[in-house]
Amino acid sequence: MNHEVRCFECERLVPDPYLDECPTCHGKLYVKMDLEGIKETSPQEFASRPLGVWRYAPLLPVERSKAVTLQEGGTPLYKCKTLAEKASIKEVFVKFEGANPTGSFKDRGMTVGVSRAVELGCKKVGCASTGNTSASLAAYAAKAGLGCIVLLPSGKVAVGKLAQAMFFGAKVVMLDGNFDDALNVVRELARQGHLYLLNSINPYRPEGQKTVAFEILDQLNHEVPDRIILPVGNAGNISAVHKALTEYAELGWINKVPKLTGIQASGSAPIVKAFRNGERDYRPEEHPETVATAIRIGNPVSGRKALKAIYDTDGTAIDVSDEEILAAQRMLGRMEGIGVEPASAASIAGLIKLRQMGEVDWDERVVCICTGHVLKDPETVIKSCEPIIQSKADAASVLKAIGG
Ligand SMILES: *Cc1c(COP(=O)(O)O)cnc(C)c1O
Ligand SMILES: [Zn+2]
Repeated sequence: MNHEVRCFECERLVPDPYLDECPTCHGKLYVKMDLEGIKETSPQEFASRPLGVWRYAPLLPVERSKAVTLQEGGTPLYKCKTLAEKASIKEVFVKFEGANPTGSFKDRGMTVGVSRAVELGCKKVGCASTGNTSASLAAYAAKAGLGCIVLLPSGKVAVGKLAQAMFFGAKVVMLDGNFDDALNVVRELARQGHLYLLNSINPYRPEGQKTVAFEILDQLNHEVPDRIILPVGNAGNISAVHKALTEYAELGWINKVPKLTGIQASGSAPIVKAFRNGERDYRPEEHPETVATAIRIGNPVSGRKALKAIYDTDGTAIDVSDEEILAAQRMLGRMEGIGVEPASAASIAGLIKLRQMGEVDWDERVVCICTGHVLKDPETVIKSCEPIIQSKADAASVLKAIGG
């Protein structure tokens, strides 16, 4: 075994693979990788394998030969000149996670999480989800031949995500509650032994999500960017990126760490509020609200890890309004041809706002992680665009209708 599971708060070893928190202090868990064995290698040695999650197998807690994979990761890193001009910044890249098999970065964590479930001999997996986790888990469970149960908050799940979970054959249950309620229920079901829990509270999930940072470094020829900006919901992703960078630094493979910058929606911003007050813990938001449903989370599971990530890297956290999110989403589509869902556009909106506030310097090299695909949430897109033009079926009418 190249790893062990420990408590993030008290560092105690937690050998029972079915616990989702520390039995002593209720802290969240993390995977401690044993990096000794790979100290003598270098990331360049991985490069003979295709870009993707399993290129980085030596830094993952499951063996590559046992992986349940849909060839996730290996997503494009776009250099965005027009966006850079618009935000008046020297260089900005977009890491487009919508290009993953089910259209979000969740696939990176799920390939590792479901591989772990199979390794443990579990027959049923489950999660609570604002949409993308369920879409991803349903697909990987199908691939592995496992039963799958997903709990969704009622009414607030984007239609593309819902369609995916149903399509891949999961049992889809809508609860009369929000995401935080759904997570409590699914944790209870897992504790009773009805399913293996695959929310990001499961420490194997973030391990797969580390690879987005490894890929960014490979794609930039190991020139470390000044800043990485990403949307924050449950905060699993920002914590995973931090863990990735910490491991590379520990291995001596990078000599600086980008400033990790978390963006939340104004109606759902417990981490931003804690950061503003200089606190290491956050107060849950009772009624989180935002058009960016993937980050509509009041009680972020990895909130404490995220705050540590931000403080340790000299990063920052701000919130953006729904209007700013939708404007950034449209702008990215129309200036760069990149289609992302609203939550993903929070990172772009955040960059623009931080530049306006002067909190990001003009000469920084910034990577924005755009977490999910535009087609996840077509209803929001259609509502936020100009209406369709109606016309009779002849050329003259079309020309008249479009104004010449
Ligand atoms: C899950 C998700 C997020 C939030 O990620 P966390 O790890 O919960 O902070 C952001 N955007 C999209 C598209 C997501 O699916
Ligand atoms: Zn503990």
